[in-house]
Formats: sequence, structure tokens, C-alpha cells
Amino acid sequence: FAPWDDPNEKPLISFQRVTKRFGDFTAIDDISLDIFSREFFALLGPSGCGKTTLMRMLAGFETPTEGKIFLAGQDIAPVPPNKRAVNMMFQSYALFPHLTVWDNIAFGLKREGKDKDAIEARVNEMLKLTRLEKFKSRKPHQISGGQRQRVALARSLAKAPKLLLLDEPLGALDAKLRQDTQFELVDIQEKTGTTFVIVTHDQEEAMTVASRVAVMDEGKLMQVSTPDRIYESPDSVYVADFIGDVNIIEGRAHQTGDNVQVIWAEGQPPLMAKTQKDFSLDQQCWLAIRPEKVAISAERPQAPNTLRGRILDIAYLGNISTYHVELPTGHVIKAQEANTRRIARRSFTWEDEVWLSWTDTAGVLLDR
Ligand code: ATP
Repeated sequence: FAPWDDPNEKPLISFQRVTKRFGDFTAIDDISLDIFSREFFALLGPSGCGKTTLMRMLAGFETPTEGKIFLAGQDIAPVPPNKRAVNMMFQSYALFPHLTVWDNIAFGLKREGKDKDAIEARVNEMLKLTRLEKFKSRKPHQISGGQRQRVALARSLAKAPKLLLLDEPLGALDAKLRQDTQFELVDIQEKTGTTFVIVTHDQEEAMTVASRVAVMDEGKLMQVSTPDRIYESPDSVYVADFIGDVNIIEGRAHQTGDNVQVIWAEGQPPLMAKTQKDFSLDQQCWLAIRPEKVAISAERPQAPNTLRGRILDIAYLGNISTYHVELPTGHVIKAQEANTRRIARRSFTWEDEVWLSWTDTAGVLLDR
């Protein structure tokens, strides 16, 4: 399932050079973006980056200052919100407190004037999909937060929208329930085949649920790709740093073919990296290396990159341990290891002198 890699595939949603200004403040800055049918697409970024504004334009609650938005090939500008094949599920769920779960789910269908049997069948289908059959006669205050979340989802899906927009849908749930619910959301999305666009500031959530993720900053798209590509091949320091943990070492590039020597500190040997990009001589660059790609050892290993340092801190997290290692240059490098070989790992302690090492393909060399 990778319609974004197929040049013949037509997008369900297409933002074309969309800008949104509030007064002289630019909330969305010249964004072009295609989202495909059946995708679970995540808009991810820090507070205020414009995720919700982008979504509200899709729903029709905001209009672009410049540019166009197409849904299934049609310009949606003239189409009012209630006529778009789009539904939006709000973080507050906005359930009717005086109606039962069943009536909450049926509400939109009744308003559309569907006949009784069709409504009955559709509501029962939605109750089954969201595992709410047992709770159908209860009112919202008589069910848990997770169940309320599922009622809101069932209600949003009842009218079979082409597109469902979810604004921080799991924000009100506690951490454990949130994780379970993420898998449930993916399951429901796959079963219905509805295109989901989710807004979240939680990178783990985006990575868990989404087919693709758009990382945003200050109204701009920084990178749009699959979760694994975003993690393994970030194309900027911003994205590398926003997604997961990373070491960033700034330096100057000396390139020969796809091999680059990164000159990064006085009196230190250059760091070796591979790249497909072209750097001019002495161009400023940043080497991004994930902590789990940095090995820690007592003896100097055979590796293209080896650095000596002293352990400042050890964070034991059960399955993994993270070491903060200070180099003579003052840089602090994070190394992370899985705690599968327990005895070996216990041999390091605070203040130990250790070797850090990584291969020349472990890091990503960035030019911005
Ligand atoms: P959060 O995660 O905090 O919800 P967000 O990424 O969804 O943030 P938006 O709600 O899209 O951010 O807002 C983007 C920017 O646009 C913010 O700086 C916000 O203050 C501004 N903004 C949003 N709506 C309006 C408005 N109606 N008038 C003026 N400024 C607005």
C-alpha cells in the first residue's frame, strides 16, 4: 500500500500552494500536499505550527487566503462544510449528554432522514465495529473515557464519510489507554477503508498509527514521508531532532565521491560518513546519529568512527539503557543499548572511561 509512490494514482485530497493568514500572521505558508484514498495520514508538529488550521480548511471552517484545495478532483472552495464528504471528530467528542450511546450514533443519520431500518442496521454495524454493543443504552456519563472516545468515532463514521478528520482524538486518554486505542484506531480505519487525517503533537502516536506523516513547523511542511523514512532518513536537523532521540554533530564537509570526512573539533580525527548529497568543500553540515546506532565498549573497537569519553549519566529504562558520554571536546553523546546481555551492560558505571563507535553508514549527513 504505497499510492504516493505511484505517479498514476490520483490523490483524494490535494492542497495546492495553500497559504492562510490571520491579519498579518501567516499560519500556513505555501503548502502543497497530496493525501490518498485509504491513507491514515498524520499532521505532526509542535503547538502553533498550523496543524489544526490545515485541517479546519479541509473541513470548511476556514478558507485559504491563497491557493486551492481539491477533494476527489473538485475544488472545495464553493462547497459548504455540511455538504463536504468530510467529517471532523473533535477532541472534546461533543457527545449529547442526554442521549444514549445508540441515539448519539444515530443522530446524524436521523437528521439526514434515512429510513428506520437503514438507521438501525447502520448503528448496529457501528456498535459492533467499535465494540460498544453492551453500552448502547447508556448515557455518556455512564461510560468510561475510552468508551466515549469510541462513541464519538462510531458517530463520526456512521454517515460513511470519504474522509474523517481527527483532532487530537486520544488527547483526553491516559498513557496506557492511549496506546491500546492507537491500535484500535488503525484496526477500525482498515476495516472501514475511510481515509483518516489525524492531528497530533505526539510523535510516537503519529509513528504508530500513520501510513505517512507530515512534520510541520511554523506553517511549513518540513517533510512528508512514511514513519520509517522519517526516522531513518530525516532531511533536516529539525525533523531528525523532532522525531525520536538523536545526536547532532556540527562540522565542515570534505567530500570524495559518496564518502565525507566531517571536520568537527580541533585535534580530533574527522568523522566518516556516507552520503548521496553533494557538499562543497568546507560546507557547513550536521551529522545526525541515533543513540541506538552508537556502540559503547571498554576496549577500542575496529570501526570507522571511534571516540573516547567518560560516562556522565546512565538511564536504565528496563529494556534499554541510555548512556550520556562526555567527550574531551565538551560534546555529550548519547549511546543506547538493548539490555539483552545483562552482565556485560552492568560492567559500566558512572565516570567510567569508555569507547563510543559507529559505522560510516550509521549517521545521516544533513545540509540544513
Ligand atoms: P496546537 O497543537 O496548539 O493546537 P496547532 O499546530 O494546531 O497548535 P493552529 O491551531 O493551527 O496550531 O494555529 C496556528 C497558528 O495560527 C497559531 O499561532 C495560532 O495562534 C494562529 N491562529 C489560529 N487560528 C487563528 C485565528 N482565528 N486568528 C488568529 N490567529 C489564529
